[in-house]
Amino acid sequence: MSAQRKVAVITGASSGIGEATARALVNAGYRVALLARRGDRIDDLAAELGGGALAIQADVTDRDSLITAAERVQTELGGADTLVNNAGVMLLGPFSSDQRDDYRRMVETNLLGAITTTEVFLDQLRDGGGDLINVSSVAGRTARPTNAVYAATKWGINGWSESLRQALQPGIRVMVIEPGAVDTELTSHITHDETREATEAFVKDLAIRSEDIAEVIVFAVTRPRRMTLNEILVRPTAQAG
Ligand code: NDP
Repeated sequence: MSAQRKVAVITGASSGIGEATARALVNAGYRVALLARRGDRIDDLAAELGGGALAIQADVTDRDSLITAAERVQTELGGADTLVNNAGVMLLGPFSSDQRDDYRRMVETNLLGAITTTEVFLDQLRDGGGDLINVSSVAGRTARPTNAVYAATKWGINGWSESLRQALQPGIRVMVIEPGAVDTELTSHITHDETREATEAFVKDLAIRSEDIAEVIVFAVTRPRRMTLNEILVRPTAQAG
């Protein structure tokens, strides 16, 4: 199948890395399905990207909405060749009961959301030799005092991905992308004020751009099928840990 006819499903396509990845994949000849909860944002992006883009409002914590999305991708785009599990939240702070709702939300979105999206789209990926891209993080390899549960979700993504890589090869290529600090709205959702301010200051000083990560994702999926970039760690040059 030529790159021109490939279809990529991107979760969290309404902002940041997901939005940039959608643009980059369309530029590389893909048709894209844009999934996110903010329908207005993905509608605007689909309109801008033209006929090759389909906006589908979906919440990765709601399996029914993912099933509806998969049916639309099958019917309207002929099925998915590539799935980019990108939707995520990073609700940092010192570990305490105060943020127990944040912990549940991170596990349900970052980890269980990716797992559910993948099992829902798996038959479509299997059909034509698929690519599965899991957006993890530097926090999938390291940990800091204020990111315990976020790191747990990203370490979880890495372990799950390594198992899937072995289970699904050679039909489906599994790739893990581990960004360092990227300038997006991710930090703005942190509910612990002091941690949000400190994280925003840290990111502002050294962050790379969503487009930088999008280019890496496009590079990875456009390699010959005989090879797979299994794990890609991308830090800003100035980021130490
Ligand atoms: P953004 O906040 O810009 O994007 C997050 C995206 O996830 C949004 O499009 C949001 O859409 C979507 N999302 C959140 N919850 C749900 C949900 N329940 N269902 C569907 N979509 C959801 O941040 P980034 O672009 O930075 O984050 C993208 C990924 O990159 C995340 O997995 C993050 O952990 C990872 N990452 C980011 C880094 C950074 O420094 N920015 C570093 C390392 C990893 P909507 O609200 O419309 O649903």
